[in-house]
Amino acid sequence: MAIYVRPDGSVEVRAPFRAKMDFIEAFVREKEGWIRSTQQKMADRRERRQVIQLSPAQVRTAKKQAKEYLTRRCEYFAPRMGVDFCSVKVNSARTRWGSCTSAGNLNFTYRLIFAEPELIDYIVVHELAHRREMNHSPEFWAVVEKVLPDYKKRRAALREFQRDISIEEGD
Ligand SMILES: [Zn+2]
Repeated sequence: MAIYVRPDGSVEVRAPFRAKMDFIEAFVREKEGWIRSTQQKMADRRERRQVIQLSPAQVRTAKKQAKEYLTRRCEYFAPRMGVDFCSVKVNSARTRWGSCTSAGNLNFTYRLIFAEPELIDYIVVHELAHRREMNHSPEFWAVVEKVLPDYKKRRAALREFQRDISIEEGD
């Protein structure tokens, strides 16, 4: 048997088809403390969630700023990491912060521009590190760590940013 608390706070219990109702109820009662604390956590998260609503003009401005800023940061870090890159492009990806092709073309989502500079630097260094290692092996993370010893903290903060801030495009 398993209990899930959904992001909206509702509870789902999965039990074998033949499980007795009083057995299921006892199981849920036993987990009540966990259910309540998880529901509270979900509620706090919903409250923290921030929506940034952008007009088409604001999206254009954000993309322009993102391209300029990200290019500058790539130019800053690349020589320090002993790598080069070919181009910096900006897209609108929602869940992917950046990518790097084997030819050295770097792609970033403009949504990054709303994150803290330390978090943007983490993505820049991450993608540039792919110029050395096209994978996420221990060797890759060693390249990242050499430039940003606290990269794990930044990566965790970026996950929080992704969870707590929603950037919406509209009119
Ligand atoms: Zn990667």
